[in-house]
Amino acid sequence: MKIINDLNLKKQAENLGVSIWKTPSFLFIIVGLTNIFAMTATFIVSRQYNEPEVIVVAEGLVVSIIFSIGNLIIQQIEEVTKLNKLKSEFVSVASHQLRTPLAAIRWETELLLSKLDKGLSDKQCKSINTINILATRMTRLVNDLLDVTKIDQGKLILRKERVDMAETVSEVVDVLLPLVRAKKMNIIVKKRNKILMALSDQEKIKLVIENLITNSIKYTKTRGKIEISLSKNSGFVVFSIRDNGVGIPNSQQKEIFSKFFRSDNIVKYQTEGTGLGLYIAKSIVEQSGGRVWFQSREDVGSVFNFSLPVV
Ligand code: ADP
Repeated sequence: MKIINDLNLKKQAENLGVSIWKTPSFLFIIVGLTNIFAMTATFIVSRQYNEPEVIVVAEGLVVSIIFSIGNLIIQQIEEVTKLNKLKSEFVSVASHQLRTPLAAIRWETELLLSKLDKGLSDKQCKSINTINILATRMTRLVNDLLDVTKIDQGKLILRKERVDMAETVSEVVDVLLPLVRAKKMNIIVKKRNKILMALSDQEKIKLVIENLITNSIKYTKTRGKIEISLSKNSGFVVFSIRDNGVGIPNSQQKEIFSKFFRSDNIVKYQTEGTGLGLYIAKSIVEQSGGRVWFQSREDVGSVFNFSLPVV
C-alpha cells in the first residue's frame, strides 16, 4: 500500500507542495533508471572497445551523470530542510508575539469580572466571560505550538526535579472538576495520598496529566466514568487513566501519537482539539526517561499510561 502511495507522484507533489520532478520518489526513480542505464552502457562500451582509455572516459561520463543527479537530490533536501527551519522559526515568532496580547486579554477580562462587574449587566458579564474562555483556549493552542516547535528543533529543555505525583494529579484534577461536573461524569483517583516521587519537570508533567485527563473527559459521553491510578513498578512510577469513552478505532491506533492526528470517530462530534496533546505528552515523558502506552477499544473505552523514573 505504501509503495503504491509512494508511486503516486501527483499526490506526493501536492502533499509536499513541490512540483512532480522535485518529489523524492521521482528523483529516486531517476537515480534507479540512471544506474540501470549506466551499467548497461558500461557493459556495451567495454565489450566493443578493448582500449582502457575509452572505458575510463565512458565510466567517467557515467560517474559524472550520477554525481550530478546526486547533487540535485542534495540540493532538494537542503531546500526542504531550510524551508522546514523557516517554518519552525515563523511558528515560534508568531506564537511568542501572540502570547503577550492574549495574556493581556485574559488579565483584563478577569479584572472586569472580578472587580468591576457591579456596573455590568448579566449579558455583558456573559460576553466578557466568553472572551476570557476563548482567550484561554487560544493561549493553550499557542503554548502547544511553541512546545511542538521546541520538540521538533530538539530545544525542549526539561528541569530535573522531584515531582510528587499524587500531589500533581490532585492539583490537576481539582482544576478540571468543573468540566467533569458539567458532563455529569464520575472521576475516581486511587492512591491519592500515596507518596510517589518521580524525576521530571513538574510543570511539564502537569501538562501531560492535564492532556490525558482532558482527553478522557472530551472523548467520553455524559455520565461516563474516569479512573486514575498511580503505582510503582521496577523503578518507575506509573500513571494510568481509564475511561469508558468512545475509544480509538483499531485501524488508527498506530497514528495516535503523530502530530495533528485526530481519529475519524471523534472529529464529527468533538471539534475542540488540535491533535498535538499526545505528541507533546509522549515527547515530554520520553525525554524524562519514561514511556507512554495505551489500550483502546472503539465504543468501550481507553486506558492511557505513562511511566517516569522513580527518584
Ligand atoms: P486532541 O485531543 O487535541 O485532538 P490529542 O493529541 O490529545 O489531540 O489526541 C489525539 C487523538 O487521539 C484525539 O483527537 C482522539 O482521536 C484520540 N484520543 C486521545 N485520547 C483519547 C481517549 N481517551 N479516548 C478516545 N480517543 C482519544
